[in-house]
Amino acid sequence: MSTQKTAIVTGAARGIGAAVAKRLADDGLAVAVLDLDADACADTVKAITDAGGKAIAVGADVSDEASVAAAVTKVADELGPPTVVVNNAGITRDNLLFKMTVADWDAVMNVHLRGAFNVTKAAQKYMVDAGWGRVVNLSSTSALGNRGQVNYSAAKAGMQGFTKTLAIELGKFGVTANAIAPGFIETEMTAATAERVGVPFEDFKAAAASQIPVNRVGAPEDIAHTASFFISEGAGFVSGQVVYVAGGPKD
Ligand code: NAP
Repeated sequence: MSTQKTAIVTGAARGIGAAVAKRLADDGLAVAVLDLDADACADTVKAITDAGGKAIAVGADVSDEASVAAAVTKVADELGPPTVVVNNAGITRDNLLFKMTVADWDAVMNVHLRGAFNVTKAAQKYMVDAGWGRVVNLSSTSALGNRGQVNYSAAKAGMQGFTKTLAIELGKFGVTANAIAPGFIETEMTAATAERVGVPFEDFKAAAASQIPVNRVGAPEDIAHTASFFISEGAGFVSGQVVYVAGGPKD
């Protein structure tokens, strides 16, 4: 019987999720590259298989319970029981409180919080059956408060509470849960923010880097490296933690 473990990485068509998916494949896991549109996952899957790894594309909306249930069953059937979950799918709908619509509030809550809940709930039974599992949730430095992101910062702070409670509930089944809170990472998400505020991305990045102690913005691979640690065999005594990966201290 194969001892290869299976991971689900959500929002893995691009950005941080794609880097995490590639890294976990390099670490020897079979990876379900999950995103809204399965076709959009093709590049990530190809990069993994070209490098000799194993991956499939899975289309699902993490905010939709039935869509997630079908996706997780598909992963179990095609790759094996998913015992590693990285809840990375995310969106922003930034605005100042007085201009924010209920739809923008709900959209952000639904993808980040309901999405992580749906995927983790569907996958936990495979982890409990295996007596082993790893959950990694994407929080953000925005959890500490960020102008124009009352919805996103609330969701990302919520991801931290979700993580800590998972750690408490699932620890006795050999499952750890931890959160990564990235600072500024160069992806389409931050490029879209630059566009929204009308600043060229290069200038936006340079301004961000000037405020970061290590004097650069982050790359998706910085987050992938941290995820790789959390899902590793040796990290079994690390649970319920939030690691800020932001090029400097945050609290
Ligand atoms: P990104 O480039 O925008 O990628 C996010 C991915 O999630 C996209 O492929 C997107 O698909 C997918 N997605 C959105 N809604 C989904 C849903 N309902 N179901 C399934 N997939 C969905 O973002 P990123 O910068 O890589 O960010 C990844 C995670 O890190 C997010 O949770 C984000 O909040 C967090 N984070 C990012 C930064 C940063 O500086 N970039 C900092 C802190 C935290 P579509 O393309 O179809 O929309």
